[in-house]
Amino acid sequence: MSLHITTPLLSSRPLSLLAGREVLLKMEALQPPGSFKIRGIGLACETYQRQGAQRFVSSSGGNAGLAVAWAGRHLGVAVTVVVPETTSLRAQELLRQEQAEVIVYGSSWQEANQYARSLLGARDAFLHPFDDPLLWQGHASMIDEVAQSGIKPDAVVLSVGGGGLLAGVVAGLQRNGWRDVPVLAVETTGAASFHAAQAAGHSVELAEINSIASSLGAKRVCDQALRCASEHPIESLLVSDLAAVSACERFLDDHRVLVEPACGASLALVYEAHPQIAAYQKLLVIVCGGATSSVEQLQKTAAALRG
Ligand SMILES: *Cc1c(COP(=O)(O)O)cnc(C)c1O
Repeated sequence: MSLHITTPLLSSRPLSLLAGREVLLKMEALQPPGSFKIRGIGLACETYQRQGAQRFVSSSGGNAGLAVAWAGRHLGVAVTVVVPETTSLRAQELLRQEQAEVIVYGSSWQEANQYARSLLGARDAFLHPFDDPLLWQGHASMIDEVAQSGIKPDAVVLSVGGGGLLAGVVAGLQRNGWRDVPVLAVETTGAASFHAAQAAGHSVELAEINSIASSLGAKRVCDQALRCASEHPIESLLVSDLAAVSACERFLDDHRVLVEPACGASLALVYEAHPQIAAYQKLLVIVCGGATSSVEQLQKTAAALRG
């Protein structure tokens, strides 16, 4: 038995009517720990346990850390998550609910990550949030499920942070013989590390992240994301923070599911009628999720962005 669930594939009536084309939703927000991350991290945790790991260590205060904590609790493996002081109390509380040991260290993710790695002993496994082939293999299962449903989309819309979701979806498309299905890879303008890498032809490190979509805030994408771009049709697209947040609000009304701005970025392509979707009749949007989001936070962020 795997640690993730088979998620619903919905044909969205409101989004299809709005876009004038069929919009399918892969509802990864319904995964028990709140995002698609459990697919890849679940597979990685099972693999590392089989190889003898007695503790999982993560430095993510977001969906990756939550997936590790959830996996550890279900596999009976201790979990330590080191997060920087900037991590919200709500995120820390969610990690503790999953029985993870939470260590608050440093003022930036870099410091927390360095400390987490310094803790690693011989029987510990470090779980990277996006740069691990096991993650991509695990994430690919969401495309296997779409293929098994007998529905073939014209294009897949997804959000890009460090590129693990992108690498997983491309792996899934390829292993199902769907090399002709392009990926629309969406980022917010202040977290456009994949966009910058594609423009440069090699991975580049952004000087800073300036976006409220915190799960997209990797300054550099993994090399695999660029390898994917060289072997698969991928279009890199950008949306504003406000478009991403507005999409979250509208999606909550349309489908009664709360997602975070990182996920709203993908939904914004449809809600904002981005010209790039005009070429496709059947769009599959990966509704990637967001466990730490709350209605109050969404409203506050929206109010701040609207001034
Ligand atoms: C992790 C995450 C992303 C970005 O995934 P990457 O693998 O880092 O590209 C997007 N949305 C949500 C909700 C996430 O948890």
